[in-house]
Amino acid sequence: MKVLVINCGSSSLKYQVLDMTNETLLAKGLVERIGMDGSVLKHEKTNVDDKFIQETPMKNHKDAITNVMNALTDSIYGVVKNMQEIGAVGHRVVHAGEKYAQSVVIDDKVIAALTECIELAPLHNPPNLLGIAACQELMPGVPEVAVFDTAFHQTMPPESYIYAIPYEYYTKYGIRRYGFHGTSHKYVAERAADMLGVNIADLKLITCHLGNGASVSAIKRGKCIDTSMGFTPLAGLAMGTRSGSIDPAIISFIADKDGLSADEVLDILNKKSGVLGISGISSDFRDIAAAIEDGNLRAELALRVFAHRVRYYIGAYIAEMNGVDAIIFTAGVGENDVNMRDVICSELGNLGIKLDLVKNKVRGKETIISRDDSKVAILLIPTNEELVIARDTYELTK
Ligand code: ADP
Repeated sequence: MKVLVINCGSSSLKYQVLDMTNETLLAKGLVERIGMDGSVLKHEKTNVDDKFIQETPMKNHKDAITNVMNALTDSIYGVVKNMQEIGAVGHRVVHAGEKYAQSVVIDDKVIAALTECIELAPLHNPPNLLGIAACQELMPGVPEVAVFDTAFHQTMPPESYIYAIPYEYYTKYGIRRYGFHGTSHKYVAERAADMLGVNIADLKLITCHLGNGASVSAIKRGKCIDTSMGFTPLAGLAMGTRSGSIDPAIISFIADKDGLSADEVLDILNKKSGVLGISGISSDFRDIAAAIEDGNLRAELALRVFAHRVRYYIGAYIAEMNGVDAIIFTAGVGENDVNMRDVICSELGNLGIKLDLVKNKVRGKETIISRDDSKVAILLIPTNEELVIARDTYELTK
């Protein structure tokens, strides 16, 4: 069966087609600037060197998916003769609140539940729902599955997810820690167990998803027991442009000083903070590394703050799980930034965490990067959220 995986953002749409008989990637692509000037689709067929690029107005997600379908059935760049060859569509959906702890086949009830969750993820769930509606219209009868960023974290115990604020905010408004990047944490945890040749039920793992958005999870016996993101993806680690957790009193303090609303301050915490905010240079660690080379002290501070926060959660989760067997690095920074992994792991030797500086000189490849005498294994595992979405979609619809 061929599965189409779709990840809709507000103005972008990423997709992949996988053949699930052998889990091979047939094609992938990206639509950018949906609903803006300069909409463009970039499509790549596996083993074909040149990209298919189409610049054409796309006023909404339905236009974008129509163009994706044209690319997928193109005589040169296509991977199916017609869309009936697509057996199912898997959608990445950001927020399912407490409604789903697993992926589900989409029906009217699921759409109603996800619509209710819009207030929890006002930036993410609406484009996810637009993508679902467009596929239902353009590919009638093809089953669709929703795979949630929050689902994997639903196993957290209440002491991890309840905030110490009046309990009625949880019962009335659903304010609690939800966690995100669940698909990625789940994927790398399962890969880690495979790579170590140990049943996941016998492992305590800490997974560090360090990309533009970043989160750390504690995974005991294959189940998430804590994670650093919270009610929204703003909490936890310092990120590319996000502050991560800060003293909440800072929000009203800045609002008073600068005459801003709470929403305007939140916008600063989401878009102008983190590594960008500290360095004043960039949210991208490649730019930060270049600036550090040039002697920029704020760039170096940004790197140290980022690493400090990751180490802080590693320590916390070792305490929570009463130990750890392996630490996993994944996503853009985790997979590629050799120096960042080194800085994070330095000075953790007393906890049995010893990085091998030679093995660590690797990017984007599944590798065990700890020293042979390290009590805790350290692994680099490239994430593959699309594969998890395709697998769940296939399992639920085959
Ligand atoms: P997103 O959260 O947008 O999916 P990614 O997981 O793709 O993010 O990570 C993107 C980030 O990864 C970039 O902003 C950059 O900081 C970092 N990154 C990518 N490649 C490298 C590299 N070679 N060295 C250091 N950092 C890198």
